Amino acid sequence: MVVPSAFWWLSLGGSLLLFVYGLHTGDYVFIFAYAFTWIPYMRNLVIHHRHQAAQQLCASCETTCLPTAFFCHHCGLKLRPE
Ligand SMILES: [Zn+2]
Repeated sequence: MVVPSAFWWLSLGGSLLLFVYGLHTGDYVFIFAYAFTWIPYMRNLVIHHRHQAAQQLCASCETTCLPTAFFCHHCGLKLRPE
């Protein structure tokens, strides 16, 4: 299952809005509850960015392939010299 990065961006925005709302109301429990929810969202966005940056480009058909792939899933060309 692949979660799109928009999900993490929307979750990050929602948690920041709830944190700001907690600051506005002055409720310390509310503030503390949403003070650290941005950490897993930012972590998942960093993982998503690193995964996108590690994609391999096939020299033959220019298809993006998984970072761990040895062969292109589209044309079968060997991606890594070994
Ligand atoms: Zn290919």
